[in-house]
Amino acid sequence: MSRPTSFTEPAKKHLGQHFLHERGIISKIVQAVDPQPGDRLVEIGPGQGAITFPLLDRHGELTVIEFDRDLIFPLTEAARAHGTLEVIHRDVLKVDFTALAHNGGPIRLVGNLPYNLSSPILFHALEHAASIRDMHFMLQKEVVDRMAAEPGSKVYGRLSVMLQAYCHVTPLFTVPPGAFRPPPKVDSAVVRLVPCDPAAIRVRDRAKFEAVVRDAFGQRRKTLRNALALQCDAAAIEAAGVRPDARAEQIGVDDFVRLANSLSD
Ligand code: SAM
Repeated sequence: MSRPTSFTEPAKKHLGQHFLHERGIISKIVQAVDPQPGDRLVEIGPGQGAITFPLLDRHGELTVIEFDRDLIFPLTEAARAHGTLEVIHRDVLKVDFTALAHNGGPIRLVGNLPYNLSSPILFHALEHAASIRDMHFMLQKEVVDRMAAEPGSKVYGRLSVMLQAYCHVTPLFTVPPGAFRPPPKVDSAVVRLVPCDPAAIRVRDRAKFEAVVRDAFGQRRKTLRNALALQCDAAAIEAAGVRPDARAEQIGVDDFVRLANSLSD
């Protein structure tokens, strides 16, 4: 079977393919990552190599995880001129980041993510947070706003609380649709996530924490007393130092952690 040696395939919508072409944006991403000798860099969704090749030029070696089989061969061929590329041809959600970190220490994840999978990829990375040094991701700006939102904001929700309980979230810069081919319909943004020191994570029972946050925001217009009726009564919420008549969007990450911990005692 003959294999394409250049990137001739049209972008695949179902794989969220929006290829970056704006050089200024690509250099800002590489500068934000700022690879240092010995770093173990792993890129999710290298596509046609827009970020891959500049990272390879700067760092010399890189592991990439790509699901689209049509891209694997041209990517591998084109990478030869830039450095040593290890290609993992797999769905990123099935990649064990902890196993990857066994060979060379905590990994640094980078990626212009397929937007249809951004939340599943973020939650998958959280599962492996102890093996990840940091993450630099391009996502829909609306998702980055939700990730970094504070209590009281309209976009503060489950994603904000779950990520901020485990990571420091820093939005870096916005990227307009014209920086991609084909252009997405919305603005994008690059965000940095740095997993907290495991000793500083106060969530005791992750499943309980997830359940409390999910139910609290599942019915965000309701008071916590009503939204959490299946988990606990008002007295238990009050005993954790949280107002039962507050709504989820008014409660800080620390309050959610305290509440879930007191319910899992
Ligand atoms: N990094 C390239 C760039 O910036 O131009 C491509 C970014 S494009 C938004 C997303 C990439 O993720 C595509 O190459 C797509 O094939 C890949 N992708 C989509 N779903 C994936 C999955 N489940 N696992 C790994 N890669 C995936």
